[in-house]
Amino acid sequence: MVSVNYDDMMPLDPFADDPNDPASFIEDDEVVEPLTPEERRDVTRDLAQVREFRKVLSPRGILGVFFTCEDCEQLHYYNWEIMEQNMLASLRGELPPVHEPSAQPNVEAYVPWDYALGYLDGLDAR
Ligand SMILES: [Zn+2]
Repeated sequence: MVSVNYDDMMPLDPFADDPNDPASFIEDDEVVEPLTPEERRDVTRDLAQVREFRKVLSPRGILGVFFTCEDCEQLHYYNWEIMEQNMLASLRGELPPVHEPSAQPNVEAYVPWDYALGYLDGLDAR
């Protein structure tokens, strides 16, 4: 967040140098930054991968991926459907529903993103 204060008469912001400034979280939730061309390319690539994962891994019992959430530092589990919807929302310039992890997931059926990538690479190599 870039903020430039030209008004020396303003009271000091008590959170000025606080990385946990609650205002910054509110802003993150409400403002959807448009994707840069590079981000758009990345999301488009990820979307293609998610669709590939879904096609190849679902029949093998892998239902989605899990991440360590940067906000709450817990693992969140997302099935392929939710991942796909999140990415489509990003591409439309909407705020993806990132905090809608799968309810009561079977954690055995979820893998890290890199594992899914490696799995596909392994299949391609054969
Ligand atoms: Zn979280």
